[in-house]
Amino acid sequence: MMSETSEAPRKITIFDTTLRDGEQCPGASMNLSEKLDVARALVMLGVDVIEAGFPIASPGDFESVRQIAREVEGATICGLARCVNVDIDRAGEAVAPAKQRRIHVFLATSPIHREFKLRMTKEEVIQNAVAGVKRAKGYCEDIEFSPEDASRTEPDFLCEVVGAVIAAGATTVNIPDTVGYATPDTFAAQIRMLKQQVQNIEQAVISVHCHNDLGMAVANSLAAVSAGAGQIECAINGLGERAGNCALEEAVMAIRTRQDFYHAFTGIVTPRIVPTSRLVSGITGMQVQRNKAIVGQNAFAHESGIHQAGMLRNATTYEIMRPEDVGLTKSDLVLGKHSGRAAIGDRAKDLGYQLTSEQLDDVVSKFKSLADRKKTMYDADLVAIIEKQVRNTDAKTWTLERYALECGSDRHPHTILWVRCGETLHKVETEEGDGPIDSVFLALEKLTGLTGQCKEFRVHSVTVGKDAQGEVNVEIDYHGSTYRGRGVSTDTIQASAEAFLMAMNRIAAAASLA
Ligand SMILES: [Zn+2]
Repeated sequence: MMSETSEAPRKITIFDTTLRDGEQCPGASMNLSEKLDVARALVMLGVDVIEAGFPIASPGDFESVRQIAREVEGATICGLARCVNVDIDRAGEAVAPAKQRRIHVFLATSPIHREFKLRMTKEEVIQNAVAGVKRAKGYCEDIEFSPEDASRTEPDFLCEVVGAVIAAGATTVNIPDTVGYATPDTFAAQIRMLKQQVQNIEQAVISVHCHNDLGMAVANSLAAVSAGAGQIECAINGLGERAGNCALEEAVMAIRTRQDFYHAFTGIVTPRIVPTSRLVSGITGMQVQRNKAIVGQNAFAHESGIHQAGMLRNATTYEIMRPEDVGLTKSDLVLGKHSGRAAIGDRAKDLGYQLTSEQLDDVVSKFKSLADRKKTMYDADLVAIIEKQVRNTDAKTWTLERYALECGSDRHPHTILWVRCGETLHKVETEEGDGPIDSVFLALEKLTGLTGQCKEFRVHSVTVGKDAQGEVNVEIDYHGSTYRGRGVSTDTIQASAEAFLMAMNRIAAAASLA
């Protein structure tokens, strides 16, 4: 066996798919300005490749990949395509403006997919895969190929496909565990098999894309790295279809913390991990669980007395990583009502936002008026204000001016809302509804004439303390599509009204496009 220290540590390429696989997860869809902010944050985080989307999927997807390719520098911008000419052409066109670009083509190889989905023989699969890679090669040098459902593909056939696409010009071969079926041992064995059996394997980087259906996405990815994989596909906060993808932050911190074992490193600027995680959960409304590794609220909280005593003597007694290594700072509280415009602007930039001068003016004034009411201001408060100020402009039709509400346990709520649409101020009133929130929702339906079904209503506190801002996330089903809205205020009823209104504005915008 090779000695682990005889060679220099290997660099592991971090391929982030938050904007593609992550965005596919229900309720996590992002608009163009949100995607651009995430892409810029990913560059600051130091990811090597950003999978920006699936250009053939819709005109919106195409436009966002193209826009990211145009505006975001510092990482390779990648577009996904099936092994079909129109897909590849569309992806090629979308990533064309990027300085460093990649096309990622995929085709299923497992018997079950060949038979029931593709209706192709083995020979046809190879022909199509090779043709796809060659066509993509016409747009750029950097080509990734994925045999979809690789972990359930016959080993010999998988080797044959991989060898053929490398010969056709693929520079990265990605082995996806599409259904989250692999285990660390079986997956590592599969990577070792490819390294042994595919003659030209050294001409390409082996990548892995693991799903978390059995909670093993990170473990499987790391087992693959030990077996020789050179790229991990992952997403911030483990976002992704179903149970999600390999969590970027976990894989990266495992490689860093256990460098002694993996003998590898990544280009990730680890102190950017927590700000990026918060940006993504703020934008998607997908909160991370409190006890989530690395980025959960409790990840670095030591409650037990024995632990605390040990920590006071020496942090390494119970801490394998320092909070500041992942960007958890105690300087959360540096901003207050006396903070200047420049300080707030700097902080916003640090959190991943590029604000125009006008937007910053707006944010500063909202920040100061909140700081008057609230003792302590946290990063999360600033994020909440920015999200509210910056995002709403996209599809803004209606905005809440104020509301009045009377309710109680023995009476029906009486709600009055004043909602602005352009120059006109509308007043709407209702005495219907089961409780104040339902009543606000019904009043807004009456006003907008849009009737949807509220599928999800979540309230959580943005920060700590009794005066904390409440964040309300709603999902409304309207004719089979899901629209998300988010409202933040120290007043939960107001936050709810804003969240409903944001979702309704999105419904109206989508309806006007159709
Ligand atoms: Zn996936």
